[in-house]
Amino acid sequence: MKRTVLFSVLPFLCLMGVKAGNYKNFRVTTYVIVQDVNKMGDEKKLEAEWSEFTKSVKPDKIYLETFRDMNFVDEKALQTAIKFFKSKGVEVEGGITFNSRGSVTGRWETFCYSNPETRVLIRKISEIAAKYFDEILLDDFYFTNCKCKLCVAAKGDQSWAKFRTALLDQSAKELIVDPAHAVNPKCKVIVKFPNWYEHFQGLGFDLEKMPTIFDGVYTGDETRDPKGEQHLQPYESFSIYRYFNNLRPGYNFGGWVDNGASYLDMFAEQLWMTLFAKTPEITMWNYGAMKGTIRDTPRSWSKYKTSFDYDDMKAESASRGVTRLTYGRVADYAFEKADKILGKLGTPKGIKSYKPFNSVGEDFLQNYMGMIGVPVEIVPAFPENNELVLLTETASKDPDIVAKINKHLLNGGEVVVTSGFYHAMQGKGIENICEMVYTDRKADIDTIIVPSGWWRKPYKTAVTIKIPQMTYMTNDSWEEISTLSYGNGWPLLQRNYYGAANFFVWVIPENFSHLYALPDAVLNSLRNFMDNEIGLHIEGPSQVALFPYDNGTFVVESFRDEPVTINVVTRKSKSIKDLDSGEVINGTNSQGERVLGRKNYEVTKYSVVVQPHSFRGFSVDTTN
Ligand SMILES: [Zn+2]
Repeated sequence: MKRTVLFSVLPFLCLMGVKAGNYKNFRVTTYVIVQDVNKMGDEKKLEAEWSEFTKSVKPDKIYLETFRDMNFVDEKALQTAIKFFKSKGVEVEGGITFNSRGSVTGRWETFCYSNPETRVLIRKISEIAAKYFDEILLDDFYFTNCKCKLCVAAKGDQSWAKFRTALLDQSAKELIVDPAHAVNPKCKVIVKFPNWYEHFQGLGFDLEKMPTIFDGVYTGDETRDPKGEQHLQPYESFSIYRYFNNLRPGYNFGGWVDNGASYLDMFAEQLWMTLFAKTPEITMWNYGAMKGTIRDTPRSWSKYKTSFDYDDMKAESASRGVTRLTYGRVADYAFEKADKILGKLGTPKGIKSYKPFNSVGEDFLQNYMGMIGVPVEIVPAFPENNELVLLTETASKDPDIVAKINKHLLNGGEVVVTSGFYHAMQGKGIENICEMVYTDRKADIDTIIVPSGWWRKPYKTAVTIKIPQMTYMTNDSWEEISTLSYGNGWPLLQRNYYGAANFFVWVIPENFSHLYALPDAVLNSLRNFMDNEIGLHIEGPSQVALFPYDNGTFVVESFRDEPVTINVVTRKSKSIKDLDSGEVINGTNSQGERVLGRKNYEVTKYSVVVQPHSFRGFSVDTTN
């Protein structure tokens, strides 16, 4: 039996591109921007540089860029670099950044794809790279924000999204992929999609067609710091990789992280999130940055034994003869940490959240849900199985969505919709499932009441939370979780039984990050309601994420600045085992929190401590 498993798994791993390398469960690569490739003509200098670099981190592969910011590669330097890296046993592939110049008229100035001269140039750039490489990775600038006179005229009455996606689909095939294939039929052209997936279509990234127009995709997993201009939540470093993999399963070839985080731990966390999403390859952007000396910003949690252990990393570096600590060194330390448990994890599984292609609404909300411990897997099609489906406003783009919800519920699959989804669908048939009104009135709530057995208990929120006031037909549906302000209240979670399953409306705060201000008991209740098929949830505060896998393992990651004790709630089980230390933890059995319309079951709760900005992986022993 074991042999069969081995034989069936190996070809799959090869297909996924996982080859044995310097790390056990993934390949590490770095990307060299063209300005740096052009300095690689001096082999002696390169040798000295590389030998220092590889003491810190061990790349299996390197991407050498041939174009960026109107800089072409010096082909002589490129040839020297290719020969050099191959002689070191490093796989060498190409990269291109299709952008015109730095910031002149806009912050990020892209190419104009309406301009005939630029189109000639783009084709030429693709052909040059294909001469040298069997794989070309496009850095995430294959979009356009050009509003020049040509583009304005060509757009006509269409929306920018419609005009740009059609233009870039066509340009991808005609100017980039076909010319590369013509020069080198073996050449795979991979498009890297950035981290702002919610807004892609407006700038021409077409998630419906591009994964097949190109030979595959790559994922921008860089979330950096939510305080930055993009305000991306750390959970996105996991969820975006999964989402892009679901666009064309098996054709998401890697995740990509840069060193833009404020703290070293946050840099490491992004690498871990990418790896926990089970990427076969991870790119450190970029070679120059990874050679850079770290900024060791003081961390309030430095006294704790965190997953990224600065002192341990420093001692380990010294033992390798590394005295100057670089981002590459931090990455290597983080890789080794995750590599210890990755081989034991199966395929990630989360609550499916359907996002139709090129849709927008309640931007990035799924990542906030991930940050409160609700595991979410964004998928581009409405799930076929009778499992709990989560729909945010973005799902309202599907013209058949009400019919799909209706069918799903009649077949016994549960559906959770957000207040934003309900609002978008109001008057479009959603009332036939559950009759509510998303009013124009808002409420500033400070208390939330959750079920506790047959009782209900009030809890104070960490801040005042503004929510939309939703009304409903009493006894058509009922408040499972209620909010209160000055003696009046509105639903936070509304439940209705339709056909053969529960239909929930989850009222989302106007400020999504106020989800983090919900009391633990409210979060616990929400997670319990969302946990139908996953069979696992956590109890505790926000900003602890749960990553369940299909083989009875899971990872928890705390993004908090102080240690946290959480409960892991499994269906009745014997024990859980720490995948790194081997520590076995015993739990306590109880009856699961009751959800009407579902079967009752017994659960086992395990108390687990997670250090700040740290992860722990576990396997669940279900034997009796
Ligand atoms: Zn233009």
